[in-house]
Amino acid sequence: MNKIEHIGIAVKDIEASNELFRSLFGEAHYKIEDVESEGVKTSFFKCGPNKIELLQATSEDSPIAKFLEKKGEGIHHIAFAVEDIENEIKRLKKEGFKMIHETAKKGADNKLIAFLHPKSTNGVLIELCQDIRE
Ligand code: ZN
Repeated sequence: MNKIEHIGIAVKDIEASNELFRSLFGEAHYKIEDVESEGVKTSFFKCGPNKIELLQATSEDSPIAKFLEKKGEGIHHIAFAVEDIENEIKRLKKEGFKMIHETAKKGADNKLIAFLHPKSTNGVLIELCQDIRE
């Protein structure tokens, strides 16, 4: 695993949170993206070399809707950059980690992604992400 790619924050109202984080960083988000398969709307901010992803649910059965219901707004996941996501999934499964996604899927921001189950990572939801190479 390489660096932290981004930190995901679950929000109720992404428009209001875009304003809030714009004030915080002194710079607006650089991208908004709907990920229909996950039932989320995302926006991305740069903060120096790091990124913050805001996530708002777009449907009631979205994982973000469930998270907000249970825990309220706050840090939702930490994403780590990997070179070869399929190999990394294989390696982690061999190490005994439970995956939410057994194979990589297309995520926001031109990435292949897979989530680990937080039950096997001390309650932290971890996302692997690999750049999609053309
Ligand atoms: Zn993410």
